[in-house]
Amino acid sequence: MLKVNEIYFSIQGESTKAGLPCVFVRLTYCNLRCKYCDTEYAFYEGYDLTIEEIIGEVKKFDCKLVEITGGEPLVQSEAITLMSKLCDDGFEVLLETGGSLSIKEIDPRVKIIMDLKCPTSGMLKKNHYENIEFIKSSDEIKFVLGSREDYEWTKEILQKYNLTKKCIILFSVVFGELEPVRVVEWILEDKLDVRFQLQMHKFIWEPTTKGV
Ligand code: SF4
Repeated sequence: MLKVNEIYFSIQGESTKAGLPCVFVRLTYCNLRCKYCDTEYAFYEGYDLTIEEIIGEVKKFDCKLVEITGGEPLVQSEAITLMSKLCDDGFEVLLETGGSLSIKEIDPRVKIIMDLKCPTSGMLKKNHYENIEFIKSSDEIKFVLGSREDYEWTKEILQKYNLTKKCIILFSVVFGELEPVRVVEWILEDKLDVRFQLQMHKFIWEPTTKGV
């Protein structure tokens, strides 16, 4: 049994899958408390569903791309089984995780989109750097930048773990905190091999809209 906050059909707003129709399964709970969190409603609210019931709901949307998100989906260990079963059923599965819990046991068919939390999140100490060992070249590591300090810290981490050679690197900004143009200028100045992204759904709908 998993506690589910919401299941909905929308456009993928981030990652290299941005712009594609996608079914989102938002699981309840999060072990972090990022200062800029925009999904606090997923910390506690939810309803219980079995894995079979979740897959049944997902199938109703007739879409092969599915993202498991949160909150932090890996707080509930059954999420790992859910992802494997979705893969068995022919779905392309994405996982959004905050990077504080182990990704070691995740089915290799799943595309992992993992945050490494920057200083302004307030969650820097929670980063589980051992996860870098289990990141595949098709996975994506995301840095959400809220300041120049975050950018400098991120550059150090990229270098320390040779991350741009390991997987796709995504840079985005804390919405309303840091001008996207600043980060784009810094990336170009430093010729970083990273992909800048905006949270597309926040431009299509009102930024606080739920379930999109
Ligand atoms: S990991 Fe995600 S859901 Fe959890 S507090 Fe941070 S931003 Fe919010």
